[in-house]
Amino acid sequence: MVIAALDSVYQVKVVLLPAKPPYKNAFTNFKGIRYRADTTIAMLRREKPDSMDYILGVTNSDICITKYAADGSIKNPVNKYTDFGIFGLGYRPGPSSVISTYRLGDFNTLLAKERLAKVSVHELGHNFGLPHCPDKKCVMTDAVESIATVDNALLRLCEKCKRRLK
Ligand SMILES: [Zn+2]
Ligand SMILES: [Zn+2]
Repeated sequence: MVIAALDSVYQVKVVLLPAKPPYKNAFTNFKGIRYRADTTIAMLRREKPDSMDYILGVTNSDICITKYAADGSIKNPVNKYTDFGIFGLGYRPGPSSVISTYRLGDFNTLLAKERLAKVSVHELGHNFGLPHCPDKKCVMTDAVESIATVDNALLRLCEKCKRRLK
């Protein structure tokens, strides 16, 4: 479903690479087993084959980032935001991104698969240079830490984001 979604939204050629375990140097256990999304993206960028423009990692493991306040210190509550669990991460622009099924619900359901497809299109959108979109129905809307936002968005770019991409 991720491949079909990326193909239909961006018309890109998607190549599935062999599966591999999560990066050991991204492991963290500050509050349960998680993998640093920023470290994972850096590793993916290093390992991206030259024949590919972008690389998207998909994992079942919980992935996290540290969220910072405007003054540069870790956002409060520090315990929550040091290793904050996320759906996905992709820099804008960038060659690599990572998404996780961990926070998307039971993966046997169509709903969870749709969520993963949306997150993949969203993170690759960032890699392509798209910022967050004010249109709540657009797949580039900011999830603001809530799965309900992802569910409310459609699996498509709004016209403004489409134009921006060109
Ligand atoms: Zn985003
Ligand atoms: Zn948009």
